Amino acid sequence: MLLAMPTQPMALVSVDPAQILLDVFGYPAFRGPQEAIVRHVCAGGSALVLMPTGGGKSLCYQIPALCRTGPGVVISPLIALMQDQVEAMAQLGVRAAALHSGQGQEQTLATWRCLRAGELDLLYLSPERLLAGDCLERLGEGPIALFAIDEAHCVSQWGHDFRPEYLQLALLAERFPSVPRIALTATADPKTSNEIRQRLQLEQAPVFLASFDRPNIRYLLREKEDARKQLLTFLSQHKGESGIVYARSRNRVDSFCKELQVAGYNAMAYHAGLAPEVRTSVLERFRRDSDVIVVATIAFGMGIDKPDVRFVAHLDLPKSLEAYYQETGRAGRDGLPALAWMLHGAGDIPQLRRFIEDSEAEASQKQIEHGKLDALINFTEACSCRRQVLLSHFGESLKEACGNCDICLEPDRSVDVTEAARKALSAVFRSGNRFGAAHVVDILLGADTARLRELGHQQLSVYGIGKELDRGQWRSLFRQLLAKGFLISDPAGHGGLQLGADPLVRPLLRGEESLALRLPAPRQERRQKRGAAAVAEQTPVAEADADLLKLLKDWRRQQAQSQAVPPYVVFHDRTLLEIASSRPMDLESLASISGVGKAKLSRYGDELLKLIGQ
Ligand code: ADP
Ligand code: ZN
Repeated sequence: MLLAMPTQPMALVSVDPAQILLDVFGYPAFRGPQEAIVRHVCAGGSALVLMPTGGGKSLCYQIPALCRTGPGVVISPLIALMQDQVEAMAQLGVRAAALHSGQGQEQTLATWRCLRAGELDLLYLSPERLLAGDCLERLGEGPIALFAIDEAHCVSQWGHDFRPEYLQLALLAERFPSVPRIALTATADPKTSNEIRQRLQLEQAPVFLASFDRPNIRYLLREKEDARKQLLTFLSQHKGESGIVYARSRNRVDSFCKELQVAGYNAMAYHAGLAPEVRTSVLERFRRDSDVIVVATIAFGMGIDKPDVRFVAHLDLPKSLEAYYQETGRAGRDGLPALAWMLHGAGDIPQLRRFIEDSEAEASQKQIEHGKLDALINFTEACSCRRQVLLSHFGESLKEACGNCDICLEPDRSVDVTEAARKALSAVFRSGNRFGAAHVVDILLGADTARLRELGHQQLSVYGIGKELDRGQWRSLFRQLLAKGFLISDPAGHGGLQLGADPLVRPLLRGEESLALRLPAPRQERRQKRGAAAVAEQTPVAEADADLLKLLKDWRRQQAQSQAVPPYVVFHDRTLLEIASSRPMDLESLASISGVGKAKLSRYGDELLKLIGQ
C-alpha cells in the first residue's frame, strides 16, 4: 500500500490567504480562528476544527485548497450539500466538481479528465465514492492540496450521525502521509472530538475551537399552552420568511403542516415516513424558495446549509441540549437576526423519560440519557440568561447576560416562593409520593374532579390550600422544583412525583431555607405581557431602502431561476441588504461590499449598478 504513496511537492504558499478571501469571496476579514486555521493548513499542517454551524468552516479548507498545489479533496456525507458547494464555488470562479452516485458515467469521466489536466481546485466526494474502485489510486496520480473531512462527527459511534464508511477514512493518513488533513465538525463535546482525533489519526494535530456563541440567534422560550394557537401567532409575524418547525412525531408533523397550509402558509411536511422522492423534493423547494416553512421531525437535519433560515421553532422539547443547539443552529447562518422559538411544558418531560426507559439501551446509557434530559430541563427552567446557560453547558463562559433571549428581553423578577414550595412538597408527600403534577395542582387548587373524589383527596389537609397561585404558575413552580431536585420524577417515566433527596428538602420544609424563583405572571396579566412578547418575536429589520431591496431580490430570483441554482448562491440576503442600505454608485464601491468578490463583480456588477441607479 505504501508503494502507491504519491510524491508531494513541498508545501507552497503561493498566494496570500487574506487576498484570496477578499478577491474570491469578497470578505474583508477572517472570522474567529479562521485565519490561524487557514495559515496552518496552507503550511501543510493537519487540524481538527470545532466550529458552530454557520461559523464559517468551509473557508478553512477552501482557501488552503486555492493556495496549495493540486485540488483540495473534500469528503462530505450528503449529495445535496456537495451540489450546493459546487454551485456556490462556480459563482465565485472557483473550479469545483463533485463525484457521487447520483451522476452519470459521462459526467464522472469528465470530472476525472479535468482532475488529471490540473483544472480542478476542489473535488467533493462522498466517503463511499472515495473508497470505491480505483478512486484512491487515481487521486494518487498527482499532487493533492489537502483532504477535508466535513461533518467529521460521523466517524463517532457515540454521536447520532454515525456513518460506518467514515471509519475507513483513517487510511488517508497512511496512504497520503504528506497531505494535510483537516477534519471539521459542529459537535464539540470532548468525547466526540477525542473519538474523531483517534479514529482519523489526528492525535498529533492541533484542535482549533471557535466560540460556539451565535449572537444573531435570539432564544425565546414560551410556556406551552395551546401549541397550535401559539404557533400561528408566532408565524403571523414571520410571513414570507423561511423557517423550520420541529415537532416530535410524524403525526404531529402532518397535522401541524395541514394547519399551516390552511392558514395560507407555504408549508411542507418532512419525516422519515415519506417516500425518498418526496423528501428530496421538499429539501429542494426549501433550498430554492425563500418563503417555505418545513414542518419536520428531527429527520430533517444534516445537509441543510441554507443561509437564510429566519426561524427554527420547536413545538416539543428536543432530545437534549446538544440536539437543541444543533437544530436551532440551522437558523441565521448568514449572520442576520434569526429566532429560535420553543414551546415547553411539563407534559413533555414524563414522556421523554418514558422513551428513555422503554428503549433497548443498557442501564448505563439510560443514565446518560436521563442526565441529558436533566440538562435540558435546567435550561428550560433557567432564571438567568439562556445564552449563558447554553454556552456554559458547552464549556464556554459568557461574562455578561446576552440581551437577546427571553429572560434578558422580558425580565420577570424572581419572587419568594418558599411558602408555595412548601405547600407543593407537602401536597406531593401527603398524597402518597406517586401522583403527577397535574393531579397535585388540582389538590392545591381545591378542584372538584371525579378522580379527587374517588381517591378521597378532598379530605387531605393540603386540599385547596394553594389558591394564591393560578394553574399556570403552579405548573411552572412544579417544573422548577423538579429541575432543582426538590422533587424527583419516578424513574419509570409515568410522571409520578416524589420528594427529592434530603439535604435539600428538609431545610425548606422546616422553613430554614428560603427559595426565590421566577414565576409566570398571573393569567390576567399574562395577556398584557403578550404585547411585550410579540415585540421580541419580531425579526429586527436592518435599515435599508425597502424598494431597492425588493428590486434586488426580484433580480436575484430571476438570476437563480435562469441558472437553476438557489438564490443565495447568487448573493446572500446580507449582501443585498448592504447594497440596499449603502447604495454604491460605481464598481469600486460595489466591490467593497461584503460578499462581492471579483467573479461576481464582473459578472453582475453592471446590472446591479443599473438597478441601484433606477
Ligand atoms: P459552516 O460550514 O461552519 O456551517 P459556512 O462555511 O457555510 O458555515 O459559512 C457560513 C456563512 O458565513 C457562509 O455564508 C459564509 O459565506 C459566511 N462566512 C464565512 N466566513 C466569513 C467571513 N470571514 N466573513 C464573512 N462571511 C463569512
Ligand atoms: Zn440572555
